[in-house]
Amino acid sequence: MKLTIVAGARPNFIKIAPLIRAIEKKSKQGININYELVHTGQHYDKNLSGNFFRELNIPEPEVNLNVGSGTQAEQTAAIMIGFEKYLNNNRPDLVVVVGDVTSTMACAIVAKKADIKLAHVEAGIRSWDLSMPEEINRMVTDCLADYFFTTSKLANENLKSTGVRDEQIFYVGNVMIDTLRHEESNFKKPEIFNTAHLHEKDYFVLTLHRPNNVDELSHLEFILKTIVHSSKNYKIVFPVHPRTKNQLNDLVNEFDNLLTVEPMGYLEFNYLVKHCKAVITDSGGITEEATVMHVPCITLRENTERPETCEIGTNVLVGSDLAKIQAAFEKLYNNQWPYGAIPELWDGNSAERIIENLVNLFQA
Ligand code: UDP
Repeated sequence: MKLTIVAGARPNFIKIAPLIRAIEKKSKQGININYELVHTGQHYDKNLSGNFFRELNIPEPEVNLNVGSGTQAEQTAAIMIGFEKYLNNNRPDLVVVVGDVTSTMACAIVAKKADIKLAHVEAGIRSWDLSMPEEINRMVTDCLADYFFTTSKLANENLKSTGVRDEQIFYVGNVMIDTLRHEESNFKKPEIFNTAHLHEKDYFVLTLHRPNNVDELSHLEFILKTIVHSSKNYKIVFPVHPRTKNQLNDLVNEFDNLLTVEPMGYLEFNYLVKHCKAVITDSGGITEEATVMHVPCITLRENTERPETCEIGTNVLVGSDLAKIQAAFEKLYNNQWPYGAIPELWDGNSAERIIENLVNLFQA
C-alpha cells in the first residue's frame, strides 16, 4: 500500500510527524505500507518550515513543489499545477491531507480529479465562519474525501449531517496532541527565558496571524493596546508570524513589556506555553495544546471550530471585545480559571489508530 502525504504549512508539519512515525512502525512490523511526502512549499521560511522537519525528525520530502507566497488563488493554483504533475508520475493508492490550509484543499481537489482515494485527517471540524479561508478549505476537502479521521464527536455529527456515511468516519483523536505528548520531554527552555528574566507563571505568550486580526493596522493596534493595558506589566512574549510582521512597524516599540521575537521552534515555543501564566492567541492548534497542558488560553476570535477546548478545556473566546478581554484577564488574576479536562482520545495515539484503520481498509 502506497500513500502520498501532503504538508504545506507549519501546523501541517506538526500533524504529519506522528503519521510518518506510525507508518514506519507498521512497515518495520512487516506490513506492506510505504509513503512519499510532498511538501508544497506554502510555508518556506525556515522558522515556519525547515526547523520543524529537523526538530520533529520528519524525513526530507520526496518532492518540494516550492510554490512560495502569493494570494489565496495564486497559491491554490500553483499547488494544484505542481501536485497534478507529481501525481501523473507517482500514483499512490491513497492521498492523505491534514488540517485546513490551502495545500490541504488544493491537493484534495487534484487527488480526486485524478480519481485517487483521499483521506482527511482532522476532518469535520467547523467554525461556520466563511470569512476564514481555513473554513472554506475544510468544507471543500470534506466534500471530496473518502475517509474522514476526526478529533471529536461533534466533527462526526457535522460530517454525517452532510451525507457522509458512518463507515467513512473514524473517530481517532488528535494527531497534534500525539506530537505534543511525544515531544513533551524534549521541550527546550528558550534563550529569552533567561535574557528577559522570565519566571514560571509570571509572563504571557501571544500569537496572532489570522487575517481578521492582523491585516488591518488600526485593528491590530487596538488588539495590542488592549492586551498590553490588561497585562498589568507582566512580560508578554510575542513570536511574530511573518504575516503580522509586515504590519507591525514601530508599533511594538511603544510597549516596554511586549517582547517580540521571531516565530519559535516547536520545542522552545511549547516550553514557553507550558510554563506561562496564560497564552493569548488566534491560533487553532494552540488552543488544543493549551487545553492538554492545562494552561489558560484567551482566544482572540469570535468563534472556534474546536468548541471542546472551551467546553471542557482551558480556552475562552473573547473576540476583539474590550469588555470580554478585560473580564478574561480579571478571571485570571483572581485565580478563577478552570483547570480543564482533556478531550476524549487526545491521548497521543491517534496516528497509530489512523494507520491501523488504513491498513485494515486497504488490505481487507
Ligand atoms: N508554534 C510554534 N512556534 C511559534 C508559534 C506556534 O511552534 O512561534 C506551533 C504551535 O505549538 C502549534 C502550531 O504552531 O503546534 C500552530 O500553528 P498556527 O498557529 O500557525 O496554525 P493554526 O493552528 O492556527 O492552524
